[in-house]
Amino acid sequence: NQQILLDNRPTGEAVESNFKLVQSPLPTLEDGQVLVRHHFLSLDPYMRGRMNESKSYAVPQPLGEVMLGGTVGEVVESRHPKYQAGDKVVGMGGWQEYSAVDANVPGALRKVDTTHVPLSYYLGAVGMPGVTAWYGLVKIINPKAGETVVISAATGAVGSAFVALAKARGCRVVGIAGGPEKCSYAVSELGFDACIDYREHTDVKTMAKALKDACPDGIDGYFENVGGYIFDAVLLRTNAFARIALCGMIAGYDGQPMPLANPALILVNRLKLEGFIVSEHMEVWADALTELGTLVATGKLRPRESISQGIASAPAAFLGLLKGKNFGKQLVKLI
Ligand code: NDP
Repeated sequence: NQQILLDNRPTGEAVESNFKLVQSPLPTLEDGQVLVRHHFLSLDPYMRGRMNESKSYAVPQPLGEVMLGGTVGEVVESRHPKYQAGDKVVGMGGWQEYSAVDANVPGALRKVDTTHVPLSYYLGAVGMPGVTAWYGLVKIINPKAGETVVISAATGAVGSAFVALAKARGCRVVGIAGGPEKCSYAVSELGFDACIDYREHTDVKTMAKALKDACPDGIDGYFENVGGYIFDAVLLRTNAFARIALCGMIAGYDGQPMPLANPALILVNRLKLEGFIVSEHMEVWADALTELGTLVATGKLRPRESISQGIASAPAAFLGLLKGKNFGKQLVKLI
């Protein structure tokens, strides 16, 4: 069972030598446990926060332990009456090829149906990132048809679910993404009405101008994934009573400063700004997953995936995700 441990904490930017690949024997099962062979490992931005000792929106990852992470796979052995070899399951198996899961712990393992939805999607569009998009859009932005909503990191796991959900509610949906290839994909494949390349608009002024062109009626809802000058530029274009779902600030995850030049606009425009952590809202997961599953099954949500091969590739793929090298949901394929 190959595993990746957090070996030491980053000072500034995370690097590959923060991780260590080790080989361990397969766990032996106790009563109530299930042995899962992982097919895919999910790589997610929150993992960067956990690599630090200080408080982030996720608790710190202990040193010398297997990196925590979402996994999908197949039961290969079961000592729990509700699970059988061959069941497809989603869980938090971590950065390793196999995990022994105590299936009596609520939420530790969930069987999934792969008849209409590919197994890997349970880590993206119909998994945690999809529910994240749903929560911010439905519970915080709560848009009316015809309103304009904007999202940064638009082509990623959260962004691709967000646009499908917002289009289903009759919104004008504008994305912000890095590079011309991601922006043209956002419009032609994901269904965004417009997408702004932030690599072309590298300061508040030019970004605010691009937003003005893409959002002629102003911005009613913003789903923030990035932070920094992009957030400032959006503030300049908000309408009165706009709602901002503060989901992520990836531009600062390696410790970069994130000054805010226009906070007075929160008052002037009477904005509602709300941060959230999706795992604290388990009460919405069933509704959110039902809607996301329907969007996938009807072809309205077809997210792209970036797949790296083999557990040893996980650290490099993860560091790439923090720099926008992924194109869509970042996964590691294990078999
Ligand atoms: P993505 O698949 O969107 O991948 C991350 C993307 O962030 C990259 O592809 C890149 O896209 C963008 N990015 C990275 N660095 C920068 C930068 N300096 N400036 C601008 N963009 C950057 O990841 P997810 O969809 O999984 O997550 C999106 C956001 O949602 C993250 O901020 C994450 O932390 C947050 N999140 C929060 C949750 C919560 O409960 N609050 C739960 C899940 C996710 P590009 O090339 O377009 O810049």
